[in-house]
Amino acid sequence: MNIIIPDPTLVLLVGPSGAGKSTFAQAHFRPTEIVSSDAMRAMLSNDPADQGASGEAFRVLSTIVNGRLKRRLLTVVDATNLAAGNRSRYRRLAARYGISSVVIAFDFPEPVYRERNASRPDRVVDDGVVADHAARMAAALVDIAAEGFKSVVVLDENATLGDIVIERVEHSPRTA
Ligand code: GDP
Ligand code: MG
Repeated sequence: MNIIIPDPTLVLLVGPSGAGKSTFAQAHFRPTEIVSSDAMRAMLSNDPADQGASGEAFRVLSTIVNGRLKRRLLTVVDATNLAAGNRSRYRRLAARYGISSVVIAFDFPEPVYRERNASRPDRVVDDGVVADHAARMAAALVDIAAEGFKSVVVLDENATLGDIVIERVEHSPRTA
């Protein structure tokens, strides 16, 4: 499966905790292209799970996303991105620089999120949180279809990392 991504573009990964977003990002993008809410929380508090650091983490994350887009650098936001308000803020930020935004969504049955979450190498999130994320994911997929992204790629649980090729296409400036 080839996913065509204009370069530059803003890539929003959308999916519950445990979906495989970070694994996917690390397999397909350069480390400096990935801006992760867990990594920001960890930098601020030594703990990627510290929700008390979330406010500052997302402010720093937005500052980095803005700085990269200003330089016309492809950027991947590795966070759940389940809130419509967050998605629209990132999309408008990219649009300000004439850069389009795409969504890569991880749409699996809830047990798959739970199993993968339990096997996470970094931190395991409570099943209740995963269930809440799964419910919000279903709603997010409906909303995303109408949110004006340049493209929306929905991966199912059979989409294995090895089968996916990210094809970058040079994008002429300010034509998003
Ligand atoms: P995130 O919370 O969405 O960032 O999820 P992670 O990337 O941390 O992945 C959660 C767990 O699922 C980890 O243990 C991964 O090794 C595993 N995982 C990630 N992608 C896949 C996949 O495509 N297939 C399978 N079977 N496991 C995966
Ligand atoms: Mg992650």
